[in-house]
Amino acid sequence: MGRVAMTSQPIASVLVVDDDPILCAVARTCFQKFGASDISVAHNGLDALEIVDQNGGPFDFILLDLKMPVMDGVQFLRHMDKRAYEGLIGIVSGEGPAILSLAMDLARKCGLNVVGSIAKPLNMTRLEELVSKQVVLQRRAGQKVDEPLTADELEAALNSNQIVAHYQPQVAVASGILCGVEALARWQHPERGTIPPDMFVPLAEDSGLMALLTDRMIERVISDSAKLNNIGYRSTISINLGASVLQDTAFPDKVGAIIERSGLEKSRFIFELTESKLVEDSLDSMEVLARMDLAGFQLSLDDFGTQFSNMEQLSKFPFKELKIDRGFVRSAATDERSRATVESCVWLGKKFGLRIVAEGVETTMDWQFLESLGVDILQGFRIAKPMAVDDLLQWAETYNAARDRTKVAANA
Ligand SMILES: [Mg+2]
Repeated sequence: MGRVAMTSQPIASVLVVDDDPILCAVARTCFQKFGASDISVAHNGLDALEIVDQNGGPFDFILLDLKMPVMDGVQFLRHMDKRAYEGLIGIVSGEGPAILSLAMDLARKCGLNVVGSIAKPLNMTRLEELVSKQVVLQRRAGQKVDEPLTADELEAALNSNQIVAHYQPQVAVASGILCGVEALARWQHPERGTIPPDMFVPLAEDSGLMALLTDRMIERVISDSAKLNNIGYRSTISINLGASVLQDTAFPDKVGAIIERSGLEKSRFIFELTESKLVEDSLDSMEVLARMDLAGFQLSLDDFGTQFSNMEQLSKFPFKELKIDRGFVRSAATDERSRATVESCVWLGKKFGLRIVAEGVETTMDWQFLESLGVDILQGFRIAKPMAVDDLLQWAETYNAARDRTKVAANA
């Protein structure tokens, strides 16, 4: 963990450190759109250090490149450690994920507040995702965003319907058919605006509110289900489960009863678990997962490829689906190692007879690559971003109509 806690303050002052003037210009435009008013630029680590020292206090955000002349990003991080720098730092690099994760590890071991890393080329979406890991972007003026989020505030939000579900479509690679959606939590805060899950799921986990959050999400999905039924024939609905749910042996019966009452088929529900949550496995979690499977729900292993114990978990738990982590999918087009990781995840999943989903599909090139590997289902901005249920209905109508037209054209 870094030296300061997660903040919900908007970013005003930013330092962009990169030797590429085009990237600096793109970053400047993006940060301006995020509401930053004071943006400094340095083209190497040494100039950046000088700016940091002259600034008096930490910047709200530093965007740091790794490969630069005079002083590179890694040396810069060591110098920042010596200064016990407390501000947020995000890393951007064109050097591939291995060096990115090494630099992140180094910075975190130093105690620096590194929020994450992104691969070049830089664009608005990627930068927004990186920055919003720790900061609620303030796009509307006059929002009260200075106070950190508290567990009490989250609990009140959970009890007053401020947590809603957005849905990200999934399409079958071969047919292009809209075959499922993943439900993702959004906090519609009356003063702070929409808060992404990265900002409050860790808080829910730390404050024992994860079970309540899971319940609320299931209720939301059920209440949206009449509308969800209209987007496609028996499309699946994926819901993320927190680790605490796995310790609750009453959970399978509880969720089973709720879904039975709704009249929806259990096999349409896919419950996603991340690998890290399975690492500390226990008799309770084995019981919960076994009984979820017996009840007819599907289980999916999320963020696949990011942990070490892949093989064991695939053979031990009754997963039907494997979701390849978006980090690898995104950089597969440009990076040899990521490509190799995606290829081996697909190979492994196929060996275990699992349905393979790739997340983070951003370009047509990604799509073609994943199709060539035999991935079954795609999810990502190339298809659509997560949306409120009414927007999803509209999107699905347009998407299905366009698909029908191409089909007719192909058969003509
Ligand atoms: Mg997920």
